[in-house]
This record gives sequence, C-alpha cells and structure tokens, in this order.
Amino acid sequence: MYNNGKELLAICREQNIPLWEAALLDEIDQTETTREEILEKTALALRVMQGSAGDPGEGKTMGGLIGGEYRKVKAYKDSRKTLTGETANRAMMRALACSQSNASMGRICAAPTAGSCGILPAALITGAEELDCGEEEILRGILTAAAVGKIIVQNATVAGAEGGCQAECGAAAAMAAAALTEMAGGAPEQSLHAAAIAIKNIMGLICDPIAGLVESPCSKRNASGVLNALSSADLALAGVESIIPFDEVVDAMYTVGLAMHPDFKETARGGIAATPTGKALAKTIRG
Ligand code: SF4
Repeated sequence: MYNNGKELLAICREQNIPLWEAALLDEIDQTETTREEILEKTALALRVMQGSAGDPGEGKTMGGLIGGEYRKVKAYKDSRKTLTGETANRAMMRALACSQSNASMGRICAAPTAGSCGILPAALITGAEELDCGEEEILRGILTAAAVGKIIVQNATVAGAEGGCQAECGAAAAMAAAALTEMAGGAPEQSLHAAAIAIKNIMGLICDPIAGLVESPCSKRNASGVLNALSSADLALAGVESIIPFDEVVDAMYTVGLAMHPDFKETARGGIAATPTGKALAKTIRG
C-alpha cells in the first residue's frame, strides 16, 4: 500500500521491483482480485483506448464545435514535412480522435477523465510504435499510469471542476509520461520525474469549456497534452530531473487548483468560454 510517490519508490527499492509491478501488487491487495483478472481488465481498457484513438470520421459532436481533426492532421502529416515530425503528429491525431469520440458519445476510457481521455491512449499507442513494444509492455505502461493517477487522486484531484484543467489534462499527461518512461525501460524514479515535469508544464491551466461542453478548448489540450507527455518522458529518460519532487508538485497543483476563482473551474464563465466568440457559440448551441 502506498499513499504517495515517496512510498511507491520505497516499495520498488525495497522489493527490487519495477513501478508497474508495485502498482499491480497494490491493486491485487486493495481489490482482492487475482493478477490475471487485473491484467484482463487492463487489456480490456487498452482495447477501448485503441478503438477510440482510430479515425472517428467527420462525425457530429454534441455541440458541433469539433470534428474531423484526426483526418486533417493525418492528411497534413502524410502530405508534407511537418514542424514537430511524424511521431508527434501521429500522437496528436489520436488524441484528437479520442476527444471527438468522447464528444459524440462514443466509447472511451476515461483515464483519468473523459475530458482528458485522449492523452494516455495516444501516448501508449504512439509510444509503443516508436519503442517496438508489445501488448505486455503497454499493459505495464497502463499500470504505471494507474499508480500515478491513484497518487494524484489521493493527494489532490483530477477534476476540472475542482482543480482546473491542470488537474485533468495535467494528471493525464503525468500518467502518460510515467507510462512512456516505464515502457522505454526507465527506472521508477525517472517515471516520477517525467510525471512531475508534465504537471509543472501546465501548472495553473484553467478549465473553461465553451458552453460547458467538453469540446473546445478540450480537444486541442489533449493534443498538446500528449506532446507534453512525450517530451517529459524524453527529458526524464535523458537524465533530466524534476528539481521539485513529484509529491510536492502534486501538492502545489492542488493548492493552485483550490485557489482558482470558480469562474475558471468548469463553470463556463471564464477564459475561452467568456470570450465574445465563446459566448456567441454558447448562445447558438443553446438555441
Ligand atoms: S478545459 Fe475543462 S472540461 Fe476541458 S479538458 Fe480541460 S478540464 Fe476538462
């Protein structure tokens, strides 16, 4: 049983096990299920993620604010040299696909939330391609992500309504960064450095969905969230460390979230939602 990153790393050190295994043993203990059952459920979650990260078509979303971004990014990256490269664009198009699926009532895996549901799948699928990982390694990545998510839930929040978008997309990026680091063979400490870096990168980000719908700016934040995860993992794997420990970063994120004005916490009264265009779109959507 671990309650924070420090305790999780101590378990890994004392038992000489990787982070994903510590997460799995804890899950067995907490849920009183077997290793096989947990791995089966994790594999099911992966299937859902893979399904939601594919081409969702032009599809109509609830508010009609997004749709077709997967195809646009795919066509763009397939037709010319891009600024961020093939991997980044592949990751972004998948994150955008998941967001569209969510906004059109498709099946998604809310890890940790529906609004941020594109970041982890896009990171896992694209990371596996780049690292030549098989399903077993991806499942280990998901377990690592789960450990990071659990710590954030226990010590802070993953709800935009409570902590702003930093809590939703920040938690998702942290989970994905840790998963990628694990899949790339990084040490447990490196996974938590990656997670800490990812949260710090969007510390203070408000939650301001137009018309209160999880479409805009949410979908683009999923695209940038997966890039945040990829770059944070690369930095950690290169040996760059977060100067502030993971647990303190989580605490700081929560403190910032609690101090945020209510207008910036999913009420659609601030930020992008409160711009003239945002308000006009909301009026049109609501009829
Ligand atoms: S802006 Fe709000 S609703 Fe949209 S993804 Fe971020 S936290 Fe979720």
